Amino acid sequence: MSSIRCDIYDPKEYDIWFAATPYGSPAYPAKTLKTWASEEQADVVYNLCLFNMTGSGSDRYGVIRGRTLQYLKAKGVDCGYGGTSEKLTVSPGNVVAGVKVAVKDNVVRALDKTTRRSRNMIGELADGRIIVVQSSDGCTEDEVARYAAGRYTIDLLLVQDAGGSTGMYRAGDGYLFAPEREGANGRPVCSVVCMRKKNKEGKPMGKKKVFIGVGHGGSDSGAVGYLVEKDINLTMATACRDFLTAYGVDVCMSRTKDENDTVSQEVAECNAYAPDLAVDIHNNSGGGDGFEVFHTIHGGTGKTLAQNIEKQVKAIGQNSRGVKTRQGTSGDYYAFIRETVAPAVICEGVFVDTKADAAQADTLAEQQAFGVAYAKGILDTLGLAYDEPEEKPDDEPVEPEKEHWAQKHFDSLKAKGVEIEDTRFDDPITRSEVFALLDRIVK
Ligand SMILES: [Zn+2]
Repeated sequence: MSSIRCDIYDPKEYDIWFAATPYGSPAYPAKTLKTWASEEQADVVYNLCLFNMTGSGSDRYGVIRGRTLQYLKAKGVDCGYGGTSEKLTVSPGNVVAGVKVAVKDNVVRALDKTTRRSRNMIGELADGRIIVVQSSDGCTEDEVARYAAGRYTIDLLLVQDAGGSTGMYRAGDGYLFAPEREGANGRPVCSVVCMRKKNKEGKPMGKKKVFIGVGHGGSDSGAVGYLVEKDINLTMATACRDFLTAYGVDVCMSRTKDENDTVSQEVAECNAYAPDLAVDIHNNSGGGDGFEVFHTIHGGTGKTLAQNIEKQVKAIGQNSRGVKTRQGTSGDYYAFIRETVAPAVICEGVFVDTKADAAQADTLAEQQAFGVAYAKGILDTLGLAYDEPEEKPDDEPVEPEKEHWAQKHFDSLKAKGVEIEDTRFDDPITRSEVFALLDRIVK
């Protein structure tokens, strides 16, 4: 099964630049993706596939016919020796000979339809954002280009790698997308494109951002049984948002009321928001029992998020069917996981058509508890602390009752033989009781 991923970066949110070293020069050797990320202090690096297109293996700077280098040289940029701060621009005016155009003005060009390899393409969307499209080893160029053009409006998409050197490394969680021939740290390469979220250095860290997809809505009720899925999805999502915002996380919800909200709208909104993590809140049907959560087949932070959420859901008493993945024809089966840039999971809280399971979430408080459990799993994944309600100790020490101040006088009078019925220390005394008492004492 092949897998295709599209990563999208808004230049307003990310610094994007090339770094390169002359191909194969002993003084400036190829470096692994992990090393590139570390040296460039980039959040994410992609292999930019600086190849010697003549096939001569020459490593002398100046004779290389690599696509990237050609591009840079055409721009008058020295691309070696410690990298370059050249801005990545892939507008048509910058396309040089040797670059294969995959998509122009959202029309797929004539591409290889037979060779199945990993692919690496880079380009610009109509709205100015940068798109990087990568596939695992089972794809033709044509398939990859059509996949991307079918989902986004693409001004220009260039084939960076026509086979085999596809690679991406994300520093935050060490995630490596490396379909062919890559080592544990990514294949040593001579040029990379680097992405770094702006305002990271020198300024206080920005708030974490979480996107919450609220499944179904409007004319699409989702699953219906003892509960209506679209309604409890919204209640769970709202509680999740409220808990997250209480701990300083910025949250964007796909809907906050009962309205139509398709998965493709959710994905577009999520990618535009560029969150740190994304969660899609659903509930199940089909007669099963228990919670389940889906993450990407590629693992990484999405898997960690799924595991952390499962742990919190178990803690509120719901049983789990497991932390799962689902393979489709083009990578992950679920669009919310496949097409979102951020690590994403889909939570299925309860089966609305199984009476006993639906009873786990048939009150407002129970639905909110699911939302809070999801929020705690998210905070655990982001490394943010939250307060747990304090446990009451089992044996609360009982305060010993204090003796009444008048007890000693009562005891003393009894010892002296004075007859008194009972203490009633704080009751008022009548004049007749005083006379009777004095008469007994004054003998
Ligand atoms: Zn659903």
